[in-house]
Amino acid sequence: MTRPFPDEVDVAIVGSGPTGAAYARVLSERSPGTRIALFEAGPQLADPPGLHVKNIADDHLRAEAQRRSEGLRPHTVTASGQGYADPSKRVVRPGTQVLQDGYQLPGEDGLPAGAMSTNVGGMGAHWTGACPRPGESERVAYLHDFEELLNEADRLLGVSANPFAGAPYSDVVRDRLGAEFDHGRAADRTVRPMPLAVHRRDDGALVWSGSDVVFGDATRANPDFALFPEALVRRVVVEDGRATGVVVADRTDGTDHQVRARFVVVAADALRTPQVLFASGVRPQALGRYLNDQPQIVFAVRLRDVAPSAVEDEDPRGRTEIVGEGGVSWVPYTDAEPFHGQVMQLDASPIPLVGDDEPSPGTIVGLGWFCAKDLSPEDRIEFSDDERDEWGMPKPRIHYVLSPKDRATIGAAKVAIVRAASVLGEFIGDAPLELSPGASLHYQGTARMGETDDGASVCGPDSRVWGVDGLYVAGNCVIPTAIACNPTLTSVALAVRGARDIAERVAAGARTEVLA
Ligand SMILES: Cc1cc2nc3c(=O)[nH]c(=O)nc-3n(C[C@H](O)[C@H](O)[C@H](O)COP(=O)(O)OP(=O)(O)OC[C@H]3O[C@@H](n4cnc5c(N)ncnc54)[C@H](O)[C@@H]3O)c2cc1C
Repeated sequence: MTRPFPDEVDVAIVGSGPTGAAYARVLSERSPGTRIALFEAGPQLADPPGLHVKNIADDHLRAEAQRRSEGLRPHTVTASGQGYADPSKRVVRPGTQVLQDGYQLPGEDGLPAGAMSTNVGGMGAHWTGACPRPGESERVAYLHDFEELLNEADRLLGVSANPFAGAPYSDVVRDRLGAEFDHGRAADRTVRPMPLAVHRRDDGALVWSGSDVVFGDATRANPDFALFPEALVRRVVVEDGRATGVVVADRTDGTDHQVRARFVVVAADALRTPQVLFASGVRPQALGRYLNDQPQIVFAVRLRDVAPSAVEDEDPRGRTEIVGEGGVSWVPYTDAEPFHGQVMQLDASPIPLVGDDEPSPGTIVGLGWFCAKDLSPEDRIEFSDDERDEWGMPKPRIHYVLSPKDRATIGAAKVAIVRAASVLGEFIGDAPLELSPGASLHYQGTARMGETDDGASVCGPDSRVWGVDGLYVAGNCVIPTAIACNPTLTSVALAVRGARDIAERVAAGARTEVLA
């Protein structure tokens, strides 16, 4: 535990998920000597800090780490957890905690499956690591360096283009999907392997990227960087239109501290970043608005016309080794078909296969289609001035409605997922399931970026909050477009731009000002 808190730093970062970690990394690389403190409300689960829990080999220790990430009311956790089985229930995944209340108002769809993780590494200690690039209108058109930022995000997250190359039947899956979907698509929008934030060690073992990979050695070796777990930032201190520090609650002893800072980066996820700003009295018109989650449809099939024994016989690793290394394929978003398909070859069926042989690894295929939401300022997370949540922060309440356009997109996504399932094999289950809103875990837009301060955005292209000098926001909340692809690569790319901006301002002498 890193204690005591400093009285003063140059940059205070709130939240240790991949985007908070990206600020720490870029500043460590570009701005040596800059004093950085990162405050994280949750506990440190492992060493190095931010390790993905899938890298914890021991089942019990991994389950314990998941449980410690679930906030003040951890639910019963097993390594397999729950989820996907019943769309009428709230999907509760290991390592996450759903919103306690205020998630669905009468007559609205709400976000019944809205969830968060509270631990060093945030959701990035639990994620699947899918890192597709946004395309067509998913992209942020006014960022002319967007492609280079995405390349840098690939580097920070340790993304591999095809880490499961050679996985059993993955070529079959992609050939069949390509034949069905590729016609008329742009070159970057055809069916392909899903880029994943995962790499292989020299001994062949898989390593999943968490914030530890984003921090990298550059951050860990930086003598001017310190990480403070169990440190809840209550608010940003704003004086005369400038961020001048943070008020931090030390959850180990219940005391509050003020830490001065020239720059403050709030990277506290899409539900809690607006909460911290609200608590700080920073309440631009767009704060909490344009909330969008990706409506999610799931289905499963068993591959047809494949010879189960041949792959195992041919694969020198044998059955035991290839279990757990199913291929992941990607059907990219297009404006014409505004959804994105993540196709995962599984080791086991999500529901029991009655009277059947044990499936060969890679022959059970899970399909997840994520839709782009119809953006509306009325979809929002709002906060109470009077009531507190269980962390003592302004209590949230969600307004969220799927519009007729959303219903049409969901309907089209169901048609597309059935097309995909039909070309792959035999259906497992009767029809695709539409999961409860929030189940995607991809919440966006609540502190969105804009090209100008037009009332529909919270920050500018460098993630600077309009009207408060020195205050930055990071995370999926900053993404201004209705993306359907998994958002972390994009939000890390936007964080890189913000971190570079701080590094430039430090270099230009802003740091000298605060020390004077
Ligand atoms: C099971 C699962 C699978 C996923 N799969 C994918 C995937 O394949 N691809 C993808 O792109 N995304 C995926 N995601 C989502 C992905 O994990 C998030 O997009 C990503 O972690 C967001 O990073 P972040 O830094 O913005 O926020 P987070 O990782 O959520 O981190 C935010 C941190 O801020 C901390 N915090 C909040 N409030 C405060 C406060 N007041 N003071 C101090 N700290 C605070 C939280 O405790 C948390 O640790 C998945 C998530 C889960 C749970």
